[in-house]
Amino acid sequence: MSRITKGLAVLGSTGSVGTQTLDIVRAFPNDFNVIGLACNRNLDLLQSQIEEFAPRYINCNGTEAEMASLESNGCQDCDLDTMVRDPDVDMVVTATVGDVALGPTLAAIDAGKDIALANKETVVMAGELVSTRAKNAGVPLLPLDSEPNAIWQCIRGEETGISRMIITASGGAFRKTPIGALADATPQQALKHPTWAMAQKITIDSATMMNKAFEVIEARWLFDVPWDDIEIVIHPESIIHSMVEFVDGSVKAQISPPDMHLPIQYAMFYPERLHNPNIKRFDPVATGALTFEPWEAERYPCFDMAIGYAKRGGSWPAALSGANDAAVELFLKGKIGFLEIGIVIKEALEAHTSNQTPDLDEIIAAGKDANARVVKIVEG
Ligand code: MG
Repeated sequence: MSRITKGLAVLGSTGSVGTQTLDIVRAFPNDFNVIGLACNRNLDLLQSQIEEFAPRYINCNGTEAEMASLESNGCQDCDLDTMVRDPDVDMVVTATVGDVALGPTLAAIDAGKDIALANKETVVMAGELVSTRAKNAGVPLLPLDSEPNAIWQCIRGEETGISRMIITASGGAFRKTPIGALADATPQQALKHPTWAMAQKITIDSATMMNKAFEVIEARWLFDVPWDDIEIVIHPESIIHSMVEFVDGSVKAQISPPDMHLPIQYAMFYPERLHNPNIKRFDPVATGALTFEPWEAERYPCFDMAIGYAKRGGSWPAALSGANDAAVELFLKGKIGFLEIGIVIKEALEAHTSNQTPDLDEIIAAGKDANARVVKIVEG
């Protein structure tokens, strides 16, 4: 059976998920046509991606001279909304950091494109808006992130009878660090994730467990499940990517070695499954024991704080995400300590004026305001 060739726009093409998305394109060259590539400032990598994939459109933060040089390869600089709306684009991969993809994701939804969603901030900031708009437009939101992707695989063909979603967490860099030593944790230590190689922002979010809170928020909106039916368990091996329990007590788990190529490929070809020789197989005996540990609320104070703000709805989660972006950046720059990440977020959100029915502009503004407030708290 021949498959149709999908037109792709990859937002965040030079990042961790973006480059792995292009690995899948490379493995299945006849299945995809790269129409657009967007990145921030990694222009050398973008240049080589342009040479390899010959996109029609590019978008990045380059000077006029840099843009002219990139465009001399036969592509055209354009804004993200124009890129994702192009009639030849079938699927938009959102793999950027922060709030950059929010507007273009809504533009792509309104234009009827499939959304392969890696950018958590989009669903955290605007979960209700994005999921409602996608439902109304009949557009699928296909999660690339390993945990929601695992849940999505587990509930396939199971429309009813779901009782609980169990999201696994590796525990991040500080699972075994004495809690008393966390105040002195350095960015270098926080960036050493035990099982996953990921971008800096998400690796810090894994150490604070803000990332896990974001995944609960994602599950809430992507799968339309009540807050109280989502649980977290620590699973240090990162082999079970999440589980779903059904009303009869049966539990389905999605199992595979920790490699993002698999969930990315699943989303890109959904509903089809294809053999990719580059993706490592699960070997039960070689893997050995799969272990689980209870969640330690005192170790990860950002988690409960974040869920509390997310449950308030409206503009609160957007403010949370914006404040977290700033706090992580300040931690990486050595301006605040590890435990201060949660403290400055809380302080910034205490000054947030809530808007219970925000539109896109108000959501983005809530994030930017909270971001600026964190910077002001720290830098004065
Ligand atoms: Mg994840």
